[in-house]
Amino acid sequence: MRRGACPSLAAPMQTGDGLLARLPPATMPPADWVALARAAQQAGNGLLDITARGSVQIRGLRAETLDLAESLVPSDWPRGALVMTSPLAGDAPDEVADPRPLARRIAAAAPLGLPPKATVLVDGGGALHLAGEAADLRLVAQPEGWLLGCGAAWLGLGDAEAALAAALLLLEAMAREDTRAPSAVARAAAARHLSPAPAPPAGTAPEALGLHALRDGLALGVGLPFGRLEAATLIAFAEASGARALRGAPGRVLLALGVPNPAGLRHKAATLGLITQPDDARGRVAACTGAPACASALLDTRALAAMLAPLVPPGALLHVSGCAKGCAHPRPARLTLVGTPQGLGLIRRGRAGDTVAQHLHTQEARASLAREFAADA
Ligand code: SF4
Repeated sequence: MRRGACPSLAAPMQTGDGLLARLPPATMPPADWVALARAAQQAGNGLLDITARGSVQIRGLRAETLDLAESLVPSDWPRGALVMTSPLAGDAPDEVADPRPLARRIAAAAPLGLPPKATVLVDGGGALHLAGEAADLRLVAQPEGWLLGCGAAWLGLGDAEAALAAALLLLEAMAREDTRAPSAVARAAAARHLSPAPAPPAGTAPEALGLHALRDGLALGVGLPFGRLEAATLIAFAEASGARALRGAPGRVLLALGVPNPAGLRHKAATLGLITQPDDARGRVAACTGAPACASALLDTRALAAMLAPLVPPGALLHVSGCAKGCAHPRPARLTLVGTPQGLGLIRRGRAGDTVAQHLHTQEARASLAREFAADA
């Protein structure tokens, strides 16, 4: 696998619990999600993730099961992740423009040899817009056309043809210059296709959890405790949904689009252990796969995370990591509990690999956490 590239079925990534393959966010019928879950059961360890961007990961694959996984994952599920659209693209009644035609044209004409992890967002706007998401190139629908951003700079506004030409020019520069930040010369050349326009107001990520209006019905977003989805839970949710399609959405949310009975599906999701309310404390805990699925784990992370979640106050984050690798949350958290050969380590405002401030007995973890969070209040 090329360093920094996104893990895929063709080039999976080694993790503590086997090989991991990522599939980009895609709006697919429930039957395709059931097929994906069966692939996870038969070729992986039966665990899936929805990432912070809404991609889906199959975990616990092995070299000898990759061909089986490739044959079980629906063939029309997109494999590449260069161009992303908003989760309700084409369905949101309040979107400024349907981003899918422009996204398809960019994907079809993008040059080969782009740097790994290059991303283009085509954001049609609407309730689940992508203003909070990072990207190398960004096309944002405005009433007058498409506003093109490159990194932190906004280059200007044009109709779909002009925006397409400018975006392709930048992608060609990215491939030629082997960088995700094209040169000033390339940016100036792209801007010549566009008219000057003010930058849009800075946006924050919308909440995908809950009910959303569609042009022809309703969508329900449910959250995954600790970002993780067991294949059997996905199958039960997909089969009960009655939805036209399901899709991963930013914030580790699974969206069901076109649900005939949202209240019934929300109830079903809750009985399956999924998050249906924004104030669910499990949304404040990041936990990795942990024992027993991960060979490196020194901790049953998810059991500990479920026990401790009610103690985490709104606005705080607890990270429970089976070892110092910190797969679930590579950034600092208010508190991290990490499995170490000496027992359960506590780290304040750090990463799982940082120096442990003190070791706790598992039985003391609850009281210690309560004390730590009380000190913040
Ligand atoms: S952080 Fe968790 S999932 Fe990652 S290697 Fe360690 S125990 Fe395994």
